[in-house]
Amino acid sequence: RSYRCDDFVVNDTKLGLVQKVREHLQNLENSAFTADRHRKRKLLENSSLNSKLLKVNGSTNALCATGLRNLGNTCFMNAILQSLSNIQQFCCYFKELPAVELRNGKTAGRRTYHTRSQGDNNVSLVEEFRKTLCALWQGSQTAFSPESLFYVVWKIMPNFRGYQQQDAHEFMRYLLDHLHLELQGGFNGVSRSVILQENSGLSASNKCCINGASTIVTAIFGGILQNEVNCLICGTESRKFDPFLDLSLDIPSQFRNKRTKNQENGPMCTLRDCLRSFTDLEELDETELYMCHKCKKKQKSTKKFWIQKLPKVLCLHLKRFHWTEYLRNKVDTYVEFPLRDLDMKCYLLEPENSGPESCRYDLAAVVVHHGSGVGSGHYTAYATHEGRWFHFNDSTVTLTDEETVVKAKAYILFYVDRQAKSGSDKL
Ligand SMILES: [Zn+2]
Repeated sequence: RSYRCDDFVVNDTKLGLVQKVREHLQNLENSAFTADRHRKRKLLENSSLNSKLLKVNGSTNALCATGLRNLGNTCFMNAILQSLSNIQQFCCYFKELPAVELRNGKTAGRRTYHTRSQGDNNVSLVEEFRKTLCALWQGSQTAFSPESLFYVVWKIMPNFRGYQQQDAHEFMRYLLDHLHLELQGGFNGVSRSVILQENSGLSASNKCCINGASTIVTAIFGGILQNEVNCLICGTESRKFDPFLDLSLDIPSQFRNKRTKNQENGPMCTLRDCLRSFTDLEELDETELYMCHKCKKKQKSTKKFWIQKLPKVLCLHLKRFHWTEYLRNKVDTYVEFPLRDLDMKCYLLEPENSGPESCRYDLAAVVVHHGSGVGSGHYTAYATHEGRWFHFNDSTVTLTDEETVVKAKAYILFYVDRQAKSGSDKL
């Protein structure tokens, strides 16, 4: 089964497309009625297909999940938003924030339309994120159009303005970093992230900007790695602590060429294999010599990661996109992952200091990339809500089951700490 983005697809940023988007956004409002009717019919069909499942679960409730419209290859954002909206502690924090009156001259009841290139500076990512989360799971509409959130995203993260398919993981990192920055600066109209946008130095690199005061972002996703480097010449060890919001895991090379068809021929790649290869002792390449302070020169070294502190929500990114000389290749290997009880204890620096439950995680959401290249294809997400699994494919949301979820070729996995989930833990 193949997937593609909803509504419309544009290939590049040729002149005239900005205008097209604008017209499209305006037409959305007019066509909302027809579109909703169409989608309701689609949902009805889906829910009748799923009625068996609903009965099994002893529930007669209609679907209350809300889809997110695709505004031109924006599925990479939709998949992340739907995933985050099903991480209850994170999502509840935003939903409980008071609404902010933005000082941009908008009068109540009159809507303004935004394009990817025009706008003003009085934007708040936190506020638009809050509004979007509130719109999801309300049950009042089948699909929500996240144009005002995307307008702010395009404003403060210009690298996501293009119309080509983009990397969902990269977007998630920018989104979390910017939410964190804005929350640190308070949210009284003009946000700090706007002021910082030009030189914040937030790059696609793994460096995450999580210094300073803690926010809901670091409280939920923040963990700490201990990076241990040993000089292979003099044996000097150096340790440093790296805060993280997610872990990017390689799919070990022996599994990289495995496709679905010949998977039976060898061992299947598991999430454990990826975690082990991340935390295993690694001899660094000649190209990444380490400056040893004792030898006072660049030397060969080994590196090892330990997890010093586990986060409440462990976000694992499987590195499926790799640069070769000319293009970015996709590793399409199926990686087996648990839906519940992922035990992280063996990767901890001091496992004896953690409680029995505090390193065990259950899956809350998973982002999947369909297709062959990073610049193409389509993103969808699976997430669990009140004990049921849903598949979020832009404006379409369908009820699904665990058997389907475990078969997904995961790109980003969101695991929630069992202890935190039980609600005993107040933020
Ligand atoms: Zn040395």
